[in-house]
Formats: sequence, structure tokens, C-alpha cells
Amino acid sequence: MGVIARYREFLPVGPSTPEVDLHEGSTPLVPSRNIGRALGLSRLFFKYEGLNPTGSFKDRGMVVAVAKALEAGSRVLMCASTGNTSASMAAYAARMGVRAIVVVPSGEIAMNKLSQALMYGAKVVALKGTFDTALEAVRDLTSRYPVALMNSINPDRIQGQKTAAFEVVDVLGDAPDYLLLPVGNAGNITAYWKGFREYHAAGRSTRLPRMVGAQADGAAPIVAGHPIANPRTVASAIRIGNPASWEGATSARDESGGLIAAVTDTEILAAQIRLANTEGLFAEPASAAPLALLFRLVMEGKIEKDSTTVVVLTGSGLKDPDAALKNVEPPIELDGDARTLAKVLKL
Ligand SMILES: *Cc1c(COP(=O)(O)O)cnc(C)c1O
Repeated sequence: MGVIARYREFLPVGPSTPEVDLHEGSTPLVPSRNIGRALGLSRLFFKYEGLNPTGSFKDRGMVVAVAKALEAGSRVLMCASTGNTSASMAAYAARMGVRAIVVVPSGEIAMNKLSQALMYGAKVVALKGTFDTALEAVRDLTSRYPVALMNSINPDRIQGQKTAAFEVVDVLGDAPDYLLLPVGNAGNITAYWKGFREYHAAGRSTRLPRMVGAQADGAAPIVAGHPIANPRTVASAIRIGNPASWEGATSARDESGGLIAAVTDTEILAAQIRLANTEGLFAEPASAAPLALLFRLVMEGKIEKDSTTVVVLTGSGLKDPDAALKNVEPPIELDGDARTLAKVLKL
């Protein structure tokens, strides 16, 4: 069952909303086995969003946005994307038999994400410039033509994405003390905070978490307090210089008593490898940013050891293996039998 069927009462859907469903959501909240212990945190969990149908949390918002766009009569869907939004939109458009047009920053998106959009049959335009340039063009075009804008400035995206917060509460029995996630265009932090508040208001939880957002050093407009013209980071999903949901992010931070801080690419890649090596969870670089930030916050004594902490792993590591593979040893090339193999392996 997908998120619309599961959380219908909290979503802007009615009897005339078409049924759209790829069984997105219901992703596991995996307890940490090793990192939590190493940090002295007794209750650390990973919300493994890479297990959504197209490999990222984007499916939660996209399913609602596509359903609402179809309900309104749209037959052409469009988005600007750093990769995952386009993969998700293209999948739901394919399923529902409508046209998908994707604008990506030329040369800036991971090959596997691009391959998804192409395989699902979207028309892909690689526009010269940054993600922010692409989004501006898409906003302009969709305001003048009968084409539905599917970026997270579309409020239906935020509505769907908030279901991840519901799932965290449903599994834990209450809200966690801290929820950490990467911040790019800032739709997701806005959505989680909305979800936690709505569930709290409905009596489903007794408290609200502190929202902790991680940006990348070279792409940290919210931390800097101004847009960044040429955002740079290995984490392409958060390579964004002028977040569309800027205010949503700062409200989530301030209302929850949380924080948004930046980590370096080196910290991101180290956290990504440690997560894969010690937990068996392979997430894309953007997803490792909040884990890198957690390491720092624990070191600085800013997270109580008995707190319940959730790190959102927003996308699968298989999305962007190139970024990760630069930091591991390549396979051993060998021509030989079991004896030579054993020798090389020091068995
Ligand atoms: C989209 C995305 C982000 C950033 O989310 P925002 O809502 O843009 O802040 C982070 N990680 C992954 C894997 C993403 O696909």
C-alpha cells in the first residue's frame, strides 16, 4: 500500500483524486548496530529512504503531486532536478501514461539518476548552468503553458513527503528527540516538520523533535545567510545555492530549537563509507551529510547520550556509485588458483 492509501486522512485527496501508487513509503527504520555504540548513543536509527521505488524519498511527495496534477487535468508534467526528482516524476508519469519533461543542470547529475529518467521515458533537457538556473526556467515556462510544475515548491510534494515523519512516529511510538537530514532545496525539512506538527496536533505523539539540517560546505546558503552563486559539493542532491523552501527550513529549525550547519565533502565521504562499512547501509553522498554532522555534534557534546536520534538516509548509494568508488580500494586483479588467492588474501 502506498502513502496515499495509508495516510489519506492527512493528505489533500478526495474521491475524485485518481489512484496513484507505486507502493512508496513504509521504509524501514533500521536501528544502528555499530555507529550508535561507537558514539555512545543508545537509541540511534536510520530511516532508509533509499528503499523507495525509485531509490529516494522523492517518491512520497511525487505520488501526491502527480495524483493532484491528474485530478486538475494536467497531461504534461515538468520539473527541474538534481536527479532524484526527475527519476521519481518520470516513473509516476510513465505509470499514469502522461508526458514527463525534465530539466537538469548540464553535466551535474549522477549517471544512474539520469538513466532512470530516460528509461521511464521522460524527455530530458540538460540546460547549461546550475540547478537554480534550471528551476528558474521551469518556473517561468510552467507559469505560461499548460504544464504542471512538479518541484517541491508544489505544495502537494511537501504534503506527501510529510508522511515520512508519520512513519517515524508510528514505529517509535512517539517523536524522536532529534531528526537529522540533508538540506538542499529544503522541501524535505519543511515536510518533516509539518508532519511532526500535524501528528502531534492529532494526538499521535507527545512531543516534537529538534530538527537538524546538514548542508555541504560549498553549498550552504542557509548557513551563510545568502544565496550561493556557484554551489560546489560532491553531494549532487544538495548542490543547491538558492533553496526554494528557504523559509520552511529556517522555521523548522527555529520553531523546533534545532540547527542547520555545514559539513565538508571530506566529512561527507568519510561518513558514507563508515555507514556502508559498519552498518551495511549504502546511501548516496547527500544522505551521509547529516551523519557527518551527527559525528561532530556528538563530539561537541551537543547530543545527549540517552536521546532518541533518527538520521534520514534520503537516497540509495546505488544512485551515484562514482562519487563513492573514488574512496575505496579497487578490486584485486589476479590470475591464479585457490592457493594464490589464499596467499593474496592472507588467509
Ligand atoms: C532531494 C534530495 C535531497 C535534498 O532534499 P531537499 O528537499 O531538496 O532539501 C537530499 N538527498 C537526496 C538523496 C535527495 O534526493
